[in-house]
Amino acid sequence: MMTFLTPKNHLRAMSTAPSKAVSSILGRFKHIITGVIIVSMVLGAAGCAITPVPMSAQTAAALKTQQPIRFLLTFDDGPARPRTDNSTLSILNTLALNPVQPGIKALFFVQTRSSGAGETAFGRSILEREVAEGHLLGFHTATPRHANHRFLTPEKLEASLNDGIGDIVAIQGSAPKLVRPPFWNYDKRTFGVYQEHGMHILLTDLSANDGKIYGFKASLRRRSNMLHMLTDVRERIAAGELPAVDGSIPVVVTFHDINGYTADHMAEYLQILLDCARAVALPTAPKAFYDNKEEAERAALGRSVLSGDQNTHLPGFWNFLWAWM
Ligand SMILES: [Zn+2]
Repeated sequence: MMTFLTPKNHLRAMSTAPSKAVSSILGRFKHIITGVIIVSMVLGAAGCAITPVPMSAQTAAALKTQQPIRFLLTFDDGPARPRTDNSTLSILNTLALNPVQPGIKALFFVQTRSSGAGETAFGRSILEREVAEGHLLGFHTATPRHANHRFLTPEKLEASLNDGIGDIVAIQGSAPKLVRPPFWNYDKRTFGVYQEHGMHILLTDLSANDGKIYGFKASLRRRSNMLHMLTDVRERIAAGELPAVDGSIPVVVTFHDINGYTADHMAEYLQILLDCARAVALPTAPKAFYDNKEEAERAALGRSVLSGDQNTHLPGFWNFLWAWM
């Protein structure tokens, strides 16, 4: 059997040869590793300094007439399935208690009948906890799998919307006003059907690219990724494309609460968002994240898609993909 020399078994192998020279090398090696770990922890905790992104005089002048931004956090695909170390529950804990802004309220686009998750009593208890803690539920799917609504027959789509809305009413006491189409995909037909059911489509400005379903789990470039997207948002704000709601401009951010990596790094992501806003010189509201579900809902409705023909910005490669289908 082949043995790979990882730092761990390297250390173990070296420690079985008790000569002084080896001990000295081992000591130095441990020292370096400890140093690297400490530096990584400090960088991680501080969110890392991000170099400011320069802007044109025209953008700077235009931004002076705009309201501050406020981050509207949204989570797709939950509730998570695992009974222990559940990522949705971990995210709820972090939103409630974190060093950046305790008591953040988010919008969860849920899958009320997902196989082994939303359909179970445990899954439902997570959705109930989201509501009890002041978060807002939006519609994502009510099918066992993450079905693309465009590819469902009219009858199946209708049944799925009625099921999902009924499930959410039973938990939240009111019907969802917001929908996030699976895979960000909609057309005039599905747009119209959502409207008939009183739901408005919310897309996103920033995406953590953490959708497990697409094969991504850990986002190693999460700072540069967020910074790149927020620089684009800054130009759209300067161009007057993003409306203000209740005195600030909602910037929609999308995560996937079924992703354990996202859950483990949630507090860090909050700091990254603030650092990126500073780096692109976009002022944030006194409370940079929404902390009230009514305000969050108004913000989401203010940023929702107004027409089935509207040109929209999608994260990653989705614009490119759906332009061909
Ligand atoms: Zn999804």
